[in-house]
Amino acid sequence: MKILVFADQKKGKVKKSSFEVLSEAVKLSTESGAEVHAALLGSGVKEQAGVLGHYGAKTVHVVDRPELATYINTPFVTAAKAVIDAVKPRLVLFPTSEGIKDYIPALVQKLDGAGITDCCKIRWTGNGVEIERPLMAAKARSTMESSHSLILLTCRAGSFETKEPNPSLKAEIVEHSVSFPDLKQIFKEVLAANTGKISLDEADVVIAAGRGVRDAEGLKLLEELADVMGAALGSTRAVVESGLVPATLQIGQTGKVINPTLYIGCGVSGAVQHTAGMGNSKVIVAINKDSEAPIFNIADYGLVGDLFKVVPLLIEAVKELKKNA
Ligand SMILES: Cc1cc2nc3c(=O)[nH]c(=O)nc-3n(C[C@H](O)[C@H](O)[C@H](O)COP(=O)(O)OP(=O)(O)OC[C@H]3O[C@@H](n4cnc5c(N)ncnc54)[C@H](O)[C@@H]3O)c2cc1C
Repeated sequence: MKILVFADQKKGKVKKSSFEVLSEAVKLSTESGAEVHAALLGSGVKEQAGVLGHYGAKTVHVVDRPELATYINTPFVTAAKAVIDAVKPRLVLFPTSEGIKDYIPALVQKLDGAGITDCCKIRWTGNGVEIERPLMAAKARSTMESSHSLILLTCRAGSFETKEPNPSLKAEIVEHSVSFPDLKQIFKEVLAANTGKISLDEADVVIAAGRGVRDAEGLKLLEELADVMGAALGSTRAVVESGLVPATLQIGQTGKVINPTLYIGCGVSGAVQHTAGMGNSKVIVAINKDSEAPIFNIADYGLVGDLFKVVPLLIEAVKELKKNA
């Protein structure tokens, strides 16, 4: 039996969410006796394939084609199906990304597989898998089971522990030649601001701005904190709706799901729709002037105070620490 993990990459660099899912696949392989394979789809990605071996993939299947340079549905479905047809896994795991969320339904349909999204717990039953997935903005969880001959699961970011890589572990790299004769779309351009800032989904430290920042001046303060800490800036929906930040920075049920090592919420109340996107952060710090704010129920460290007083002190403290480092 084989477990196949599709790695996600950005500009040829494998994303950390892929290592998390691969670590979970290795854990499942010890329960099920399966062999772990990985797949990497993209353009100019071949050099990155080896790193997946360090996390326990025995074989890495690569489809390296210019048509896969930027995400569009058809070539990714075609390439993923070609790898699955060749490898014949029982279980296929995916990290979650916008692209993967987009192509999974078509892939599941073409393969006649069983697809379950947003899994946060996976157990091998001996005859298939039992999984847990969140419901109602992560207020509840449901359990599902599948013993289908081909099971495809997307994994919720931050749900699994990433093992330390072992550079002495080497994978066999297998290149698959896939053509796309019936391509009906071509990719033209990405319309997005190149901010040069750290990407929210990959960041180790995230500073989240809530309505408490009030205005552009308050936001600037948090941007300064993010800069000195080498952190990414994110926000609640309230801040997006006020027009202070673009929707790409929204964390939550209808925004991004993040799993940084450190999340610092500033002027964030902790509505369930927001915590659905950051509840898996390793350490949660909340700065809020209302001691009854719900975010304190999930915070590891809480600071009751006015962010306009607390954040400048934090900035100075981090600068001081860096000076003495
Ligand atoms: C269908 C649906 C989907 C949604 N999806 C999302 C989502 O994906 N992400 C998301 O974030 N929200 C989402 N929301 C909105 C969500 O319900 C909340 O309204 C939102 O998260 C609140 O944002 P907030 O914490 O910034 O604002 P508020 O709830 O208004 O909280 C502001 C906080 O700032 C504190 N504060 C004020 N001034 C200061 C100060 N000077 N110093 C310190 N603290 C201060 C206050 O005490 C308060 O706790 C969704 C809502 C719906 C209905």
